Amino acid sequence: MGKKDLAWESIGFSYRETDKRYVSNYKNGEWDKGTITSDATVVLNECAGVFQYCQSIFEGLKAYTTKSGSIVTFRPDLNAERMMDSARGLEMPPFPKERFLDAIDQVVKANADWVPPYGSGASLYIRPYMFASSPVIGVKPAEEYQFRVICTPVGPYFKGGVRPLSICVSDFDRAAPHGTGHLKAGLNYAMSLHAYMEAHQNGFDENLFLDPATRTFVEETGGANFFFVTKEHEIVIPKSDSILPSITRRSMMIVAEKYLGLKVTERPVRLSEINSFVECGLCGTAAVISPVGKVTDHGREIRFSDCQEAMGPVTKKLYDTLTGIQLGTVEAPEGWIRKIC
Ligand SMILES: *Cc1c(COP(=O)(O)O)cnc(C)c1O
Repeated sequence: MGKKDLAWESIGFSYRETDKRYVSNYKNGEWDKGTITSDATVVLNECAGVFQYCQSIFEGLKAYTTKSGSIVTFRPDLNAERMMDSARGLEMPPFPKERFLDAIDQVVKANADWVPPYGSGASLYIRPYMFASSPVIGVKPAEEYQFRVICTPVGPYFKGGVRPLSICVSDFDRAAPHGTGHLKAGLNYAMSLHAYMEAHQNGFDENLFLDPATRTFVEETGGANFFFVTKEHEIVIPKSDSILPSITRRSMMIVAEKYLGLKVTERPVRLSEINSFVECGLCGTAAVISPVGKVTDHGREIRFSDCQEAMGPVTKKLYDTLTGIQLGTVEAPEGWIRKIC
């Protein structure tokens, strides 16, 4: 065995079947002991809960090869906790945190040859997920569930690398007030796909979704949180109960304050005020930290002056520090890096 023969520098963000995955099944009120398997197929009853009422949740995190050659994950404990929150929100049995961490370690170790090398710009995307596996026909939670962890090597999420993104204000909402927007549940993404395709057909990279109650505040895109930078280099983060609590964003806020000495404010952000910001960006495991050049609101263009050709200076510092922590070239805060092998 040795590293797979892939063109690591040019792999895109797509699924590529790897060798091993982790599976555990929930039955009679408990999770079984779980196992690593080579079988990439799932066979389910035609009436399984996931097909009928969409009881399905997931997570996303990455494994990196550090400069010193170790393979590590970044704050997987927060993915474990968020997945437990998502499970409770959809009446599914939470998968215990310690077992989640162990499952991730096992999958990464079993697929070590698929972890892109240091310096390639690629990483191993890890997708833990859980779905209702037993039949339901009346609207209620299923009795049985499967927890699975798969992984696939990925390059940058957005085509064109660090070219600033062009985003449009969506006419659709991604979440309901007091709904499930804060949970990583498949149902939130199914209904964002139409908006996504429409944005693409109109030449935009992504949607900016507004708060569903008043449609005046900035929420997020289909898969990443927003941040803004003021002229005085203060970081402003939209606050709302229906935004997915991004681990990248929460980490970036700490990096901004503790490593870069920047002021960080989390507050509701009006769409009508974003023209006052000089930089805008997206953050998430897949998006990492990506610059946004402009937001288009029904023909009105809002340009972020410091993010026109490339990342603005503050976005660049955030990106360099955060990715440095992940790749082992910048010292990490206690407990952020989990060494796997
Ligand atoms: C997963 C996700 C994010 C990013 O969260 P990370 O923990 O940083 O990967 C942001 N918004 C949405 C809607 C997401 O699904």
